[in-house]
Amino acid sequence: MPQVSLNNGVRMPILGFGVFQIPEDQTQPAVEAALEAGYRLLDTAAAYENERAVGRAIAASGIPRDELFVTTKLWIQDYGEESTKRAFDRSLERLGLDYLDLYLIHQPYGDYYGSWRAMEGLNRNGRARAIGVSNFYPDRLADLVTHNEIVPAVNQIETHVFFQRTDDQKLMRQYGVQHESWGPLAEGGQGFFDNPVLVDIARAHDRSVAQIALRWLVQREIVVIPKSVRPERMAENLDVFDFRLTADEMARVAGLETGRSHIVDHHDPERVTWLGGVRFDT
Ligand code: NDP
Repeated sequence: MPQVSLNNGVRMPILGFGVFQIPEDQTQPAVEAALEAGYRLLDTAAAYENERAVGRAIAASGIPRDELFVTTKLWIQDYGEESTKRAFDRSLERLGLDYLDLYLIHQPYGDYYGSWRAMEGLNRNGRARAIGVSNFYPDRLADLVTHNEIVPAVNQIETHVFFQRTDDQKLMRQYGVQHESWGPLAEGGQGFFDNPVLVDIARAHDRSVAQIALRWLVQREIVVIPKSVRPERMAENLDVFDFRLTADEMARVAGLETGRSHIVDHHDPERVTWLGGVRFDT
């Protein structure tokens, strides 16, 4: 599995397994199947309410801890310096781990500055090998980088063929922040799997639409974490490293850009207010 180097030297697989919207009772078998298929990067969050099941799957797999790359995320209700430290301990306890590979601020709202100070401490003492953010648009990212000591290692943002984030990626490169895509298959929306351009390129390579979309992101050096509960799709999504898209194919996919979010628009005030009110048992 190809890896990327984060800005602090930590190595991260370029392709991993996301567990958003997998119900708690289906998460352990799904993660076990993903590990069996060969995934080593796991992406969960306190807000997904399935960290315990991810932890059980890790324990059951018997895979040495240092061969795994585990990410979880801090939810808004736990922002602030002291609450972040407590939330981090609870996440680790649920995952059954004694350190994290990557800890992310899930959303750019509320007291994320206080959280970032706590996370800088967790990073310095080695309990989080890398720290980063999620859903930070360029202005928020620039602000955080400008006023803090540690530059986020990763920014995990909605990125797929319909919302490509090329300007975001340019800024992240400038700062040394690794671009990670969530929703790499656009969660199947906007006619994703029947898109004529993707179908045409998939035929030319004798691959699936999902593989073309993931390959296109990986070729842009973006980390991807597709989610599936089906083992055959897990294997399919992992199998994108033995072919390349041509410059012309890359450009054709680039032509699918719509310039807007299709899943969660973080600039929409109603959505911001709604997210700020969401509470989980973390
Ligand atoms: P994805 O773009 O990964 O799409 C997942 C959907 O595609 C599921 O319905 C899945 O169905 C289907 N699917 C997966 N593989 C295939 C395939 N090969 N062929 C056809 N259908 C397929 O969406 P996600 O939102 O899950 O994003 C991935 C991960 O990103 C999440 O799991 C989570 O870890 C992270 N994320 C982070 C967010 C954030 O705010 N930081 C927000 C959203 C996601 P099935 O399971 O039935 O196969």
